[in-house]
Amino acid sequence: MDIQFYNTLTRKKEKLNPIKPGEVSIYTCGPTVYNRSHIGNFRTFIFEDILKRVLLLVGYKVNHVMNITDIDDKTIKKANEENKNLREITSKYTSEFIEDMNTLKILPANKYPAATDHIQEMIAMTTTLIEKRNAYVTDDGSVYFSINSFENYGKLANLDMSSQKQTDRVASDEYTKDNIQDFVLWKSWKKEDGDISWNSPWGKGRPGWHLECSVMSTQYLSDHFDIHCGGVDNIFPHHENEIAQSCAALETDFVNIWMHSEHLNMADEKMSKSLGNIKTIPELLNDGYSAESLRYALISSQYRSKLSFSINKLEDAKKAVHRINDVFEKLNERSIESDSLPEEYNKFIESLSDDLNTPKALGILFNYLRKVNRKISKNELSKSEASMGLNFIKQADKIFALLVDKVIIPESISKLIVLREKARKEKQWELSDSLRDKIKEKGWIIEDTPDGYKCYPIINYKK
Ligand code: AMP
Ligand code: ZN
Repeated sequence: MDIQFYNTLTRKKEKLNPIKPGEVSIYTCGPTVYNRSHIGNFRTFIFEDILKRVLLLVGYKVNHVMNITDIDDKTIKKANEENKNLREITSKYTSEFIEDMNTLKILPANKYPAATDHIQEMIAMTTTLIEKRNAYVTDDGSVYFSINSFENYGKLANLDMSSQKQTDRVASDEYTKDNIQDFVLWKSWKKEDGDISWNSPWGKGRPGWHLECSVMSTQYLSDHFDIHCGGVDNIFPHHENEIAQSCAALETDFVNIWMHSEHLNMADEKMSKSLGNIKTIPELLNDGYSAESLRYALISSQYRSKLSFSINKLEDAKKAVHRINDVFEKLNERSIESDSLPEEYNKFIESLSDDLNTPKALGILFNYLRKVNRKISKNELSKSEASMGLNFIKQADKIFALLVDKVIIPESISKLIVLREKARKEKQWELSDSLRDKIKEKGWIIEDTPDGYKCYPIINYKK
């Protein structure tokens, strides 16, 4: 079956045609490790996870590289504010990021290269760009990319470059489309950088953010690879600049398909660390939402539509996760050995193959579950139908990962649960809340569902 994805560069859906038959190479922009990543970031990381899982399910091998941005304006600012060295800051947030990725059952990348381990390669690419006259050195020992030297500049972000006069240079990593200028490849050392610098042919300094991804993607996936992903905020300037750098330095097509996920919003604004309107994974687990509920909430919209974060959405997700787990258990009890799948399965795969239409695929699955549930309640489900249903859920779970792992609850926690259930029955809400807190202190989350409580360990969560 053909798979097609929307390519931001060509603004249309395109059939996936991997450069190396049977294998898809993917680069995804990773976290900037100056803070704990928020659920908005994880919307993008889960979209990338779904992309990978779909490719794996239909039989491709996937080679996935995700960078760790451990040097940029924000990481340096944070290290200075906290009076800590850069490594201390970035290693803390890198391990928290990996923890959250595991909690959310996101398949790990094949490689997580860190920018600070690739400074020499960044200096080499900058040197090439100067030699090819795509870049120039300024008096202070910085190096800038000359956007006029690259014919295709602006294609990804669909910029009208005809009216564009390059007037100045931009030294910061992030800027807007109203401010299209020559951008920095290498930044000369400034007082604010403290002891963070590397030697280069142009003096002490550090790389610009955009250069990092051009170097690491092509180093690990080769000059030309299949798919590059990120959130829509990465289109300009980050990915536009990556294209300019890589194509000019390496004379390559660089990337075949550019895929970008829309933002997760809080009210009407993008959830972002700088606006401070964020929720982290540990916070949401603490509020009683399981990793599966968070996954469901994030994939309930197609990745190219905006999605608003809300408690209602999480509550709906909780119910959906409960339903799939509940039907799974019922089918498990009734099924026999078989590997047949219902006819709905083809439609399910078709929807995912059409630009990762997760809401449509979830709709097909949940309609099917409803049908099966009705038969179960009327005692009309045959063993072979039960097996088909079970196989469908198992296949679907290779994409969605909504089945909750069976957990063994230790006795000390079970005792507290029994006391809490008793308190709830007696409407002693304060006591039941304090027992819930005690359970949480011991590393367990208790979630009340229409069928009674569910109890999960807080995975890898450090207080
Ligand atoms: P950062 O850690 O800021 O470098 O971002 C890591 C990834 O998260 C990038 O691909 C961003 O595009 C993406 N991202 C940031 N904020 C959001 C959001 N509110 N919704 C979806 N993706 C986001
Ligand atoms: Zn990047």
